Amino acid sequence: MPHPNTTAVHGTHPPLIDGAVVQPIFQAATYAFLEPDDAAERGVDPVRYTRYTNTPGQVELGRKLAMLEGAEAACVTASGMAAISAALLSTLQAGDHMLIQNPVYGGTLDLVLNHLPRLGIKHTLIDGSDPASWAGALTRETKLIHVEAISNPLMQLIDLRAVTDFAKANSLTSTIDATFATPMNLRPIELGFDIVLHSATKYLGGHSDLCAGVVASTHERTDAAMRTMVAFGGSLDANSCFLLDRGLKTLHVRMPRHDENAAALARWLADQPGVAKVHHASLSDSPHKALFAGFGGMLGFELDPSADAGKFLRSVRLATHAASLGGVETLVVSPSRSSHAKLTAEERAAAGVSDGLIRVSVGIEQIDDLIADFAQAIALSRG
Ligand code: PLP
Repeated sequence: MPHPNTTAVHGTHPPLIDGAVVQPIFQAATYAFLEPDDAAERGVDPVRYTRYTNTPGQVELGRKLAMLEGAEAACVTASGMAAISAALLSTLQAGDHMLIQNPVYGGTLDLVLNHLPRLGIKHTLIDGSDPASWAGALTRETKLIHVEAISNPLMQLIDLRAVTDFAKANSLTSTIDATFATPMNLRPIELGFDIVLHSATKYLGGHSDLCAGVVASTHERTDAAMRTMVAFGGSLDANSCFLLDRGLKTLHVRMPRHDENAAALARWLADQPGVAKVHHASLSDSPHKALFAGFGGMLGFELDPSADAGKFLRSVRLATHAASLGGVETLVVSPSRSSHAKLTAEERAAAGVSDGLIRVSVGIEQIDDLIADFAQAIALSRG
């Protein structure tokens, strides 16, 4: 098996098509039927259709992502939420109960808190940092535990081995959203997770120009998630497949720069008057840091009450005030006004999301320029 850096560039190294050195965009919704013998020889379904997620671009991307994750199989989806919903809906049914770390990405919480209950799927929010409390949340119907590798938006690291041990001891499926870590910084399958999920819109794509998701797992679980995703219509389109494959080719080059820049900005922020708290794993003394090769480009910081978060967001010049994350450019956002806006004020408070919290997706610009931009915006926010 080649090194992940080589896999990121070449995937399975499929035969070149007409000599093109990159996989072309297969801009076809449907494909001519192959004879059964021909299909078997090529290892493909004789009926190929974009929604079925069995076109050449989709299949090759799935193989590349499975290799990167060290999983048996992987499948691409139309968004991170398509991947998360497919994984949960293919594992759970009416009457089941799941445990979910709190806080996690607001869209995932919205799905679990507000949509799955209508299908008869119940949940209990758990404190990821307190494994001893998880057993108390189990019911006879509990079937799944969901966590994030580095949780959104407070960048909390939890004992991921405790999660997989707990899941195995209680016959639960373990799912992990590893969007903030990427396979360059964490390989959850090696820790015993059953299903790894990504919003590929973020670091895997890396350029804020596509929307996609990934489910990586065993063949059986990936197929089940894919069947659910196909039924709900969440397949990835041909252009996004191309862009995602292109983005993945530089993942191993981009991630260390995100890691370094975020750690440097976090160190600088921690010394600034007006900044009450900084959340980045590089500053934490968490014993779980050793699981990660790097801590990624996501950080959070809390402006103290003397500063105006809205003014900070309006004052940045190099960074952009925008939702989403994981691209080469630095973005800043207020979680209480974006990713967690759909939650009630009580749900936000329980998730530790204050109005002064700013989440930063640190890009790969020159760090001095970023620091200068943050310095002027913090100064203006306190004016
Ligand atoms: N998971 C995490 C950690 C996220 O931050 C996001 C989006 O911000 C998602 C999942 C959802 O991804 P998408 O917007 O691609 O559906």
